[in-house]
Amino acid sequence: MKERLHKLLTDLMLIPGLAGHEGRVRRYLKDELVRLGLSCRTDMLGNLIATIEGDGEAPSVMLFTHMDQLGFVVRKIEADGFIRVERLGGVPERALASQAVLLCVGEGRDRKGVIANKSHHATTPEEKYRVTPYGDLYIDAGFASAEDAHAAGVQIGTPVVYLPNVVELGDERIAGTSVDDRAGCAVVVEAARLIMDKSPRPTVHLVFAVQEEFNLRGAVTAAQALKPDIAIQIDLVLATDTPDMTYRGDIRLGGGPAISLYSFHGRGTLNGLIPHPALVRLFENIAGERGTPLQRSAHVGALTETSYVQLVGEGVACIDVGFPMRYSHSSLEVCDLGDLEQLTRLLADVAAAINPRLSLDRDDYEA
Ligand SMILES: [Zn+2]
Repeated sequence: MKERLHKLLTDLMLIPGLAGHEGRVRRYLKDELVRLGLSCRTDMLGNLIATIEGDGEAPSVMLFTHMDQLGFVVRKIEADGFIRVERLGGVPERALASQAVLLCVGEGRDRKGVIANKSHHATTPEEKYRVTPYGDLYIDAGFASAEDAHAAGVQIGTPVVYLPNVVELGDERIAGTSVDDRAGCAVVVEAARLIMDKSPRPTVHLVFAVQEEFNLRGAVTAAQALKPDIAIQIDLVLATDTPDMTYRGDIRLGGGPAISLYSFHGRGTLNGLIPHPALVRLFENIAGERGTPLQRSAHVGALTETSYVQLVGEGVACIDVGFPMRYSHSSLEVCDLGDLEQLTRLLADVAAAINPRLSLDRDDYEA
């Protein structure tokens, strides 16, 4: 399984899919699901949905993850051919200069570029430790003029992403672009393969969602259509085992999958997730039975689509589950293949344990 996860992850990391422009990623995933014998549909927003039928008496499950990535959109093409961009998603401005990027004109016609970094020899003492805001940055894609850029198909609105890249760190760790959340996509595909072999099982809807990095609400239309009782969201969990992060928590890369007990984002969002207690207990019980380490995360500053999915209809029992990841939203995010494998197996076992006897009544859980 680790080999399959490795291939799925690295294939997916090399496919560009800016939020709102997920087509290439969706087509790859659709082929994988069809190969598993599942039929797929795509909704108006672009969410890819497939259903594994199961016991209609058991609570139904939406297992979801997002397939988009953050990046930029071309804002202006200067007369001298340099490209200005608008950001799309939580782009870390201090990690942008000197990055290679891909201008996504179309499959086979994409154009590479570099985000310029002022020549060091001309950098003044004041500039040396200053972060250049993205609005002042420009991309050099080798064009001599705006006409050159237009002729190559680049125009206002063209999607731009970090140049897709995979760097293997030893045998177990993968660094590169959009580990967030292609690792989640790889895990859900492999979990689906295991769930299809489980009997009995509940009905499990697989959703590969769009536009998470844009507004966190792409998955909502899928939840509205599917009306699941339970939604399990797969994404990164911030690893806190690097020197700059230890004070934030106890999540170790390579330490196994994790659940989030609390997330919140204040700046204009006022949302987050306090997971349904039935799902916390279920994950802990299954992980305990099978001896899988299950790490716990609680932190303010980030949120996922469950914030909005939990509010669909009369409410959906939600939980955020994930894999530890370092250096989020940079062009070199790092995850661990062992974590992905343990997460995949845990998800399949949890899904199989969702049966008609599972109570979602909060009074059965809240002390
Ligand atoms: Zn993500």
